[in-house]
Amino acid sequence: MNILVIGSGGREHALCWALARSPRCDKLFVAPGNGGTVELAETAPVDPADHDAVTAFCRENAIDLVVIGPELPLVNGLSDDLRAAGILVFGPSRAAAQLEGSKAFTKALCDEMNIPTAAYARFDSEGPALDYVRSQGAPIVVKADGLAAGKGVTVAETLEAAEAAIRECFSGAFGAAGAEVVIEECLVGEEVSLFAVADGKNFVILESAQDHKRAFDGDTGPNTGGMGAYSPAPAMTPQMLEMARSQIIAPTIAGMAAHGTPFSGVLFAGLMITDQGPRLIEFNTRFGDPECQVLLLRLQSDLLDILEASARGELGTVTPRWRPDTALTVVMAAEGYPGSYEKGTEIRGLDGNDEPDCIVFHAGTKRDGDRVFANGGRVLNVTALGSSVAAAQARAYRRIETIDWPEGFCRRDIGWRALAREKA
Ligand code: AMP
Repeated sequence: MNILVIGSGGREHALCWALARSPRCDKLFVAPGNGGTVELAETAPVDPADHDAVTAFCRENAIDLVVIGPELPLVNGLSDDLRAAGILVFGPSRAAAQLEGSKAFTKALCDEMNIPTAAYARFDSEGPALDYVRSQGAPIVVKADGLAAGKGVTVAETLEAAEAAIRECFSGAFGAAGAEVVIEECLVGEEVSLFAVADGKNFVILESAQDHKRAFDGDTGPNTGGMGAYSPAPAMTPQMLEMARSQIIAPTIAGMAAHGTPFSGVLFAGLMITDQGPRLIEFNTRFGDPECQVLLLRLQSDLLDILEASARGELGTVTPRWRPDTALTVVMAAEGYPGSYEKGTEIRGLDGNDEPDCIVFHAGTKRDGDRVFANGGRVLNVTALGSSVAAAQARAYRRIETIDWPEGFCRRDIGWRALAREKA
């Protein structure tokens, strides 16, 4: 099969890496890709935002499957336009991607299907929203309804913080994404990510993972796209997994099908493991980045078989197999991220220092001949397998010691929660 991967992050490098290992993968293309994907895939000279150009590229290059990595092309309907042109696509339609694109849409589905989630109310103007938080008190969670690049959520510990977040949303800080505000009960527990792949009617659970959103050690500093992750998440016990499958994933797939907007692609549930069981915090409609990197390092089955079966509506017979080991990834970011940072600094020590079961996935990098330069905020994902959390962590940090990039930084405590459990 000829395959085109859309995206440029560590997630897409990991997708290319796993697809390239498939015996059924003939030619692999990526648009736009990064300094890591160029080793595995040919760069397709098309802008993913130009759907006509992507369609034309697929026709000219006999592409058999398009794999869409990030959320934006999904919400913009790239998969719809490709399917209308008769091209096989892994990823949800624009209508189904609303599970990620609109919190209000997801909350309405939760109400209808009785999916356990935080109690909430929804407002399209400031006054009533302020009255509501004053009546509820803190802690409370304020969310811009639309896609706000991970920045539209405030977990407000005080009433003042909640009021400020509401004013910020309605002042236009998040553009159209803040035209409606969702205010939620604050859930207490441990957060885990659960991944499933669906084909419109059937689904298979992939695995669980846990990420680290804050920039600095000890979960301090500003929120980021994710500074590290590991899989499996120990908080996802078999009992919690069964509850999440039957109470959250299954009714979502059934509800979307019943509405005539069947969901195919990755359903990524952000869950809070509370004393009463898993509660849905949010859905994403694609692999997490960096969670994808740890999942794919553990996957023993052929990724292409799973993605193709999802795209064809034939997931019924697929059973992914996993290595029981822990996979852990540490993100190396440019100094200053998630604020302003420099691009173009050189990274040395990437080639020739490979450890077994350890892969450096590239995110924001650019290659110039043999040299690699930073080209974004999150730059590398040092990803390792181990027979324990401690072993995987040690292997990843050992590899980091061999990477010479003075302008970069990473957290030194990725996996701390799982490590504490392991020690206990
Ligand atoms: P979201 O973009 O909805 O995933 O929210 C971003 C982060 O805010 C989540 O990963 C949680 O850490 C936190 N969060 C969101 N909703 C809640 C909630 N209802 N209770 C507690 N924390 C929340």
